[in-house]
Amino acid sequence: MRILVTGGAGFIGSHLCERLLGEGHEVLCLDNFFTGSKRNIAQFAENPQFELVRHDITEPILLEVDQIYHLACPASPVHYQYNPVKTIKTSVMGTINMLGLAKRVRARILLASTSEVYGDPQVHPQPETYWGNVNPIGIRSCYDEGKRVAETLMMDYHRQNGVDIRIVRIFNTYGPRMAEHDGRVVSNFIVQALKGEDITVYGDGSQTRSFCYVDDLVDGLIRLMACDGFTGPVNIGNPTETTILEFARRIIELTGSTSRIIYKPLPSDDPKQRQPDITMARTKLQWEPRIPIDTGLGRTVEYFAGLTAAGS
Ligand code: NAD
Ligand code: UDP
Repeated sequence: MRILVTGGAGFIGSHLCERLLGEGHEVLCLDNFFTGSKRNIAQFAENPQFELVRHDITEPILLEVDQIYHLACPASPVHYQYNPVKTIKTSVMGTINMLGLAKRVRARILLASTSEVYGDPQVHPQPETYWGNVNPIGIRSCYDEGKRVAETLMMDYHRQNGVDIRIVRIFNTYGPRMAEHDGRVVSNFIVQALKGEDITVYGDGSQTRSFCYVDDLVDGLIRLMACDGFTGPVNIGNPTETTILEFARRIIELTGSTSRIIYKPLPSDDPKQRQPDITMARTKLQWEPRIPIDTGLGRTVEYFAGLTAAGS
């Protein structure tokens, strides 16, 4: 098949391109390189099945494809808050453009939505039936509300125009090729630990997250895309929950670092707890995460150690 991956030069997108190429598909990677990098996709450059299109999805584009994995959107708070208006445009106009393309060429389209649609959740763990607790005017809303509108657009194009859609709500994902300076907790803590710098815990570190290794996530995306008669939304994430303070201690232990833990102010609207209910993924997709956290973190530490050694 000829498959379009928007945001294909990003962290998750580059792993997805790799997996799709490995399965023998032709992959069209579309990216504006806001948070993605050529380094992430350099290994496919010589592959005749791979094609790169530098394009901003807020502008329409006409391509002939069979499937669309729509991932383009900055994902870390530092990046999505850098130009919040652009973030909303990417989710709203970008998703309209991709849905228009899907409608025209009759391609199945999968939206990478997020656990952020649940906001600061008052239901724990979060099932897909929960409508969420999102501050519509806060500093995270450009991302959260943008993704909520993107989900609405997907459902309306489906109901109104019969577009073949899939919606996945991705929970915190980690692994090699996360951007070193994108401010996410996994990359921050590992890089700080490797450099012997202070580990910056925001707030008292009692907030929780549940981290999923990228290979497991990509497997979930591919299963959802292949699943007939099921649109989602479906949660994909690893239900193993940890506090951020425990996570900091784990990274220090894993890296054998001499770093100290220091505390910084908690950003506003930072969700206090997050854990996916993956009953639906288990039953509809026969999916569940397989990579234990220490295995995944080991591979991620190795990746960042390689970058540090290379002096980047
Ligand atoms: P990333 O920032 O590494 O990748 C996003 C990619 O989209 C980048 O390559 C960036 O250059 C590209 N992009 C951004 N705006 C664009 C635009 N207007 N036009 C074209 N390309 C654009 O992030 P990621 O972690 O790989 O996330 C991929 C997707 O998964 C995002 O949609 C994100 O919201 C979603 N997601 C990720 C996580 C996570 O933990 N990583 C969690 C929930 C949801
Ligand atoms: N966090 C932290 N120190 C950091 C970066 C993040 O304590 O250096 C916290 C952050 O406040 C949040 C959690 O770690 O509670 C996860 O942050 P991240 O930005 O990775 O993801 P998100 O908040 O979008 O889930």
